[in-house]
Amino acid sequence: MKEEILKLIKLQEIDSEIAGFDNAIAKHRLAVTRREQAIAEKQESITHFKNKIELLNKKQSETKIEHEDAGARVKDRQNKMMQVQTSREHQALLKEIEENKRIAKETEERILQFIEQIEHLEQEVANLENLCTAEQQLLSEEAENVDQEISRLEDAKHSIIGQREVEAAALKDAYLKRYNMLLSKRDGLAVVAINDNVCQGCHMALPPQQVIEVRKAEKFNLCPTCQRILYYKEVEETEAGE
Ligand SMILES: [Zn+2]
Repeated sequence: MKEEILKLIKLQEIDSEIAGFDNAIAKHRLAVTRREQAIAEKQESITHFKNKIELLNKKQSETKIEHEDAGARVKDRQNKMMQVQTSREHQALLKEIEENKRIAKETEERILQFIEQIEHLEQEVANLENLCTAEQQLLSEEAENVDQEISRLEDAKHSIIGQREVEAAALKDAYLKRYNMLLSKRDGLAVVAINDNVCQGCHMALPPQQVIEVRKAEKFNLCPTCQRILYYKEVEETEAGE
């Protein structure tokens, strides 16, 4: 039985190493994805700002027409002033002139505000476009390095997978099945040591009688809490050296 436990310990070591490679690969991929997302978010902001600029330009044109119309009305009423006879007509024209002058002034202020807002947004768009270009360039420059690192990790993983197949073939079928099942259900950790009478998988204390049995290693000992296969560190150290 000790022999089988040692094989399982070895298999667990290999599987942990494989998981380490998988994590490293995933980390690299995630870093690239995050950077791509950051660029995509900036591009979305650019589109959003450009739409805003378009809307402001439209409003600005409309306001310009309002402004010109008011100016034209002022001129028109001023011309009519020459022709009116009564003071009532005169007063009415004056009132219209005042009103249209007020509109002309107010629309002019609004136009200036639109121009200011548009300039501000255009600056923002230019900044974001510069950032996007720089980030994209950097990312494509580094993409090659990342690809190389990932393929290095995958090569290392594949060679160790070959080793795993050899180790797995040496195990009894029933043990391997149990081990594989635990590995998938227990987060990649099927075989764990006990330390100070505590399962290193779930960190629950074990009954003293079980600790003795784990030390003897005459049969499979499963953690009563997490069901992982338990071993005593000493077993690994002494037997592995033989
Ligand atoms: Zn446990």
